[in-house]
Amino acid sequence: MRKNIVAGNWKMNKNLQEGLDFAGELQTVLNGKKINCDVVICTPFIHLALINKQKTGNTVKLGAQNCADKVSGAYTGEVSAAMVASTGAQYVILGHSERRAYYGETNAILKEKVKLALENNLIPIFCIGEVLEEREAGKQNQVVKTQIEEALFELSAEDFGKIVLAYEPVWAIGTGKTATPDQAQEMHAFIRQTLVAKYGEKIANDTSILYGGSANAKNAKELFSNPDVDGGLIGGASLTVEAFMPIIEAF
Ligand code: PEP
Repeated sequence: MRKNIVAGNWKMNKNLQEGLDFAGELQTVLNGKKINCDVVICTPFIHLALINKQKTGNTVKLGAQNCADKVSGAYTGEVSAAMVASTGAQYVILGHSERRAYYGETNAILKEKVKLALENNLIPIFCIGEVLEEREAGKQNQVVKTQIEEALFELSAEDFGKIVLAYEPVWAIGTGKTATPDQAQEMHAFIRQTLVAKYGEKIANDTSILYGGSANAKNAKELFSNPDVDGGLIGGASLTVEAFMPIIEAF
């Protein structure tokens, strides 16, 4: 059965000490609570190894927000999937719309990143989603299908089974404009059908599909109550424990 997951995406926020403080506080608050989802924090690279060293147990899982599309070598400034894995991180966000828009990440590049992440036993949280003009033109399903097909559909069924998807309509990210629960469910069901057609019912039903885009304490419960919404990728509301906890507890 698929997992429910609430993952925080810190983006380029928090210095090292702030990150360590947050992770410590989150772990303290979570300890002793019954939580019905996996909790992941996706931090900047610099935090990963130290948070991993500081934390006890696996209540809070760690992820990076990116990794290189190359194995190693003369790629100044890049961080490889193997390096991410060596910190103790278990997840890596790939294909976030900010990486696609500001750093030119294409589906072809993302295909390489996914491959390397999997080879290094990292679980990709693979982001897909349409921009506003595409939704207004009614093209959102085709856009999302193409992103999935071009970056992921050469994977074997076994490898695809390790992927987590995050539907993040670009018009909802950081804008305060959330997809309605119906819009989210409609797209998540479409994504799952797309997976059924390629990999069959079992893998499609076992794939966690998260929603991302201005999710917060107020709307999380309703979003997560949809049958095909298996959690959230949370940006702004993952930056304080007070804002993040009610989203985790929405399950
Ligand atoms: C994100 O960056 O993945 C995201 C969903 O951001 P926000 O929650 O701030 O819209």
